[in-house]
Amino acid sequence: MSSDRPSRHVVMFGRPGSGKSSLAERLGDAHGFRLVRTGEMLRAAIRAGDAIGRQAESLIAQGRLVSDELIYQVLSNEPTVFQSDRLLFDGFPRTLGQVPLLDRLASEIGFTIDRYVSIEVSAEEALRRMTGRRVCPQCGATYHMVNRPPKRDETCDMDGADLRRRADDDPEVLQIRQRVFDEETVPVVEHYRKNTVDRFRSVDGGQSFEQVLKAIEAALGLEPGTASKLM
Ligand code: ADP
Repeated sequence: MSSDRPSRHVVMFGRPGSGKSSLAERLGDAHGFRLVRTGEMLRAAIRAGDAIGRQAESLIAQGRLVSDELIYQVLSNEPTVFQSDRLLFDGFPRTLGQVPLLDRLASEIGFTIDRYVSIEVSAEEALRRMTGRRVCPQCGATYHMVNRPPKRDETCDMDGADLRRRADDDPEVLQIRQRVFDEETVPVVEHYRKNTVDRFRSVDGGQSFEQVLKAIEAALGLEPGTASKLM
């Protein structure tokens, strides 16, 4: 165990294809983090066909970001999420404009982010990995045909639905999403790297999935290997 106190409020950064979402799920299961995933909240709104979903759908399919205002709305719709004493932010904040939104949430709800973790992977490696991603159209569970395959080929473990590629995992859209990450989110990562030096950690995302998981556990002051034992 690291000598650090275990982190309770964590923000994870990683370009599309860094493994961030699968890593966040494993960390959540193993260490009791409630995940705050703006991407999943938006996809749920699209599945529900509500006003937020209608505004988000074509932007997401094109690989572009939705507005900071819409992100504020989806987060405001889920006040109970923030009651948890362990939160892992996956996909937020994603623009410099969203940084004050996180500050506002933190001060209103009364938590402090203990760790900002950046999973660092090259754009080329990220693109290569993303071709394996699949999602359940019914429940939103995510899989990776190499790193996190379903028990039965192309079928959701939870509800047996046929798995799909996300619309934004189309090869051309993948390129746009990498560019959007470089333009909009890298400045956010650099902001925290520079301004919260004590709480910022970067992890080499080019290692195997299980190695990255252990490196993040260590960065969070959690017992490395806990999440791997649960598999
Ligand atoms: P990934 O991390 O794999 O890119 P996400 O599930 O986090 O995927 O997000 C999917 C899409 O939802 C993004 O490409 C973007 O269009 C939208 N989105 C999610 N979170 C945000 C955010 N914080 N700000 C703006 N757009 C967002």
